[in-house]
Amino acid sequence: MSSGDVRNPLLRVQFQIPFDQIRAEHVEPAVAELLSDAQAQLDRLTSDASPRTFHNTMEPLDVLTERLDYAVGIVRHLEAVATTPELRAAYNAVQPQVSAFHSSLPLNEALWKAVQSYAATSEAKNLSGARRRFLNKTIDNFRRHGAELDAAGKARIAEIDVELSKLTIRFSENVLDSTNEFELVIREESKLAGLPESAVAMARESARSKGLEAPAWRFTLQAPSYIALMTYLDDSEIRRQVYEAYVNRALEGDRDNRPVIQRILELRRAKANLLGYRDFADLVLEDRMAHKGERAQAFLADLKAKTDAHFQKENYELEAFAGRGELHPWDVPYYSEKQRTALYDFDEEALRPYFPLDSVVDGMFEIVQRLYGIRVIEKPGAPAWNPQVKYYEIHDDSRGHDTMIGAFYADWFPRENKRGGAWMDAFITGVDFGNRFEPHAGLICGNLTPPGADRPSLLTHREVQTIFHEFGHLLHHCLSQVEVRSLAGANVAWDFVELPSQIMENWCWEREALDLFARHYQTGAPVPQDLFEKMQRARNFRAANAQMRQLGFGFVDLALHRDYSAQAHPDVLAYARDILQAFTPAKLPLHYGMIASFTHLFASPIGYGAGYYSYKWAEVLDADAFTLFQDSGIFSRDVGARFRENILARGDSQDPAELYRTFMGRDPDPNALLERSGLLTTK
Ligand SMILES: [Zn+2]
Repeated sequence: MSSGDVRNPLLRVQFQIPFDQIRAEHVEPAVAELLSDAQAQLDRLTSDASPRTFHNTMEPLDVLTERLDYAVGIVRHLEAVATTPELRAAYNAVQPQVSAFHSSLPLNEALWKAVQSYAATSEAKNLSGARRRFLNKTIDNFRRHGAELDAAGKARIAEIDVELSKLTIRFSENVLDSTNEFELVIREESKLAGLPESAVAMARESARSKGLEAPAWRFTLQAPSYIALMTYLDDSEIRRQVYEAYVNRALEGDRDNRPVIQRILELRRAKANLLGYRDFADLVLEDRMAHKGERAQAFLADLKAKTDAHFQKENYELEAFAGRGELHPWDVPYYSEKQRTALYDFDEEALRPYFPLDSVVDGMFEIVQRLYGIRVIEKPGAPAWNPQVKYYEIHDDSRGHDTMIGAFYADWFPRENKRGGAWMDAFITGVDFGNRFEPHAGLICGNLTPPGADRPSLLTHREVQTIFHEFGHLLHHCLSQVEVRSLAGANVAWDFVELPSQIMENWCWEREALDLFARHYQTGAPVPQDLFEKMQRARNFRAANAQMRQLGFGFVDLALHRDYSAQAHPDVLAYARDILQAFTPAKLPLHYGMIASFTHLFASPIGYGAGYYSYKWAEVLDADAFTLFQDSGIFSRDVGARFRENILARGDSQDPAELYRTFMGRDPDPNALLERSGLLTTK
C-alpha cells in the first residue's frame, strides 16, 4: 500500500531470495500485509456464489498462504542461522499471529461449508490422483483441527494452539541460551591428554576467536566440541563436569524447561481429548503410516525385544573391557572408543583426512547424477546470510532439454548465532502440471567440523552421513513433481519422511561410492583397503546400544504423550529418567535432564512429538529399500529411476504405504535392518 512496502523484500515471492536486503524491521509490516492479503483471498473464496468447483474452491485453498509461508519461512530460517535480538523479537512478535491464522482455517465455518459443498458435487466425486487425495486430506485435516466442534470448542482449540506456539519457542530459546552459556576453558596442556589433534586445534581456535590469551583451549556444548571431549579426553573428572552440564541444560532459573514441558503435554492432551482422541499420539498419528500410538509402541517393543539380549551382552563386554565394574555415563563413550580401537584397531579419526568437505559434497553430487540423471552446479555470488554459505542449482535433462528444476543453499559450519544440529528446510515448493512447472528452492544446514588455520574442513564419517542425510531430504523436496502444492515436496507423513534421507546414508558405506569422494586431502589417495575393512567391521560395534538409544527416545516420547500425567508424576524428569534407564548402558544420575533439551519433542507445536519412533520406522524402510540397489548395483540407473519416480517425485500425492509397495513390489521387511545392524540372530 504505502511506498515503503514496495521495498519490503519479504512481500514478493522471488526465486533468488534477496538475503542481502532482508532486515528485522521488514518482518512485522510484511507479515501484517501478507496476513490481510491471505484473509482477503479467503473472503473471496468463501463469498463466491457460483457453483463449487475444484478451480474456485480447492485451488485457492492450496495457494492461500503461499506468500505468507514464503516470508515466514525465510524469517524462521534466518532466526535459526543468523539470529539477532531484533530478529528474534520480530519473529516472536509475528509467530503467534501466523500460527493463529493457520489454525483458524479449519475452524472457519464458511470455508468448511465451501469444502463440504464442493465435496458433494459430481466433479468432486469423480476426482482421482493427487486432487482426490487433496480433498480427502483437507476434510480429515479440518476434522482433526476442530471443524466439527461447537463455537466454544473451536475457540479453545485456537487458544491452545497460540499458547503451544509460544511455549515451544520458549523451549528452544532456553535450550539455545543454556547451551551457549556454558564454556570450559582449559589452560594446562597436560589436561588435554587423549584428545585427537583435530579437537585440540578446534578448541584452540575457539579460544582465539573469543580473544582468550594463549595457552587456552575452549570447549563448548556444541556437538563437535562435546562429542570429541566425551569420546577422547582422558580426564574423567572433566568429562563428568561437561556431561553434567550437557544433561542439565535448560533446568535453571527462568530457563527451566520443566514447567514448559508439563504445560505443553497438558495442552496437547487437552486438545486431543477435545477432538475425540484418547491422547496426542492417536491424534497426530492418524494420517501417518503407524496410524495409532499403540501400534507405534508395539513396533518399538518388538524391536526392543529383538535387541535386548545383544544390548546386555555389549554392556557386559564393555564393563569387562574397562575392568572397573559399573561404568558412569560419562565413561561409556570413552571406554567404547578404547574398546573399538582394541577390537578393530580402528580409530575413527584416521578417516578424517579422507573426508575433506568439498570432495565429499562433489562425490555426493556425482552419485545422484548416476542414479537420477540430475546435475548439481554451484552458482557463486548469490546473496546469502553468511559468506560461508554456498548456493547450487539442480539441472535435469529428463524433459528433453536442460532444465533447472531446483536450487538450494548449503550452510555447514557452527556459529554462535546459529542453532545446533543439521536440517533441511524448504523456501519454495513448486508445482508441476506436466507441461508447466515451477522450480523448488530449499536449504541444507549443519554444524560440521570447521576448517582450521592450516587445513580444510575434515569430517568424521558420521558427519559425512549427516550431509548425505540432509541432501536426501533436499532431493525429496527438489525432485517433487506434484500438481497440488500442499502435497508436493518433503511434506509427507513423519514416519515416511526419513526414508529419502536415511537411504542416502547407505552409499557412505560402499567401497565404490567412497572411491568417488573419499580422497586424502594432501595426497589424493583413496581410503586404504585395510582401513576400509576395519571401518566395515567396526560398523556394527555396539549396534544394539545405538538401537536401544533411539528406541529409548521413542519410548519416552510415546509414554509422555500417551501415559504421563503431572498429577501422578509431578517430577517429569524422574518419570523420563526411569523409562530411559532401561535403554541406557550406565546408571543415569538423579538429575538427568535430557528431556529438558529434547528439542525434537518440544521445540515446535507438533514437531516429533509422539513421532520419534519414526526414525526407527524409516530405518526399517531404508534398510529394506536399499537391498534393491544392492541387488542391481549401487549406481543402478534403473533402480534409481524407480526410486525417483515412485518415491522422490511423489511427495504426499499418494498413500506412502502404496508408494513403498510400488517401488519394492511388496511391504517392508524389518529383517533387513536387523541384518544390516548384525542383530538378526537372537542367540
Ligand atoms: Zn532427517
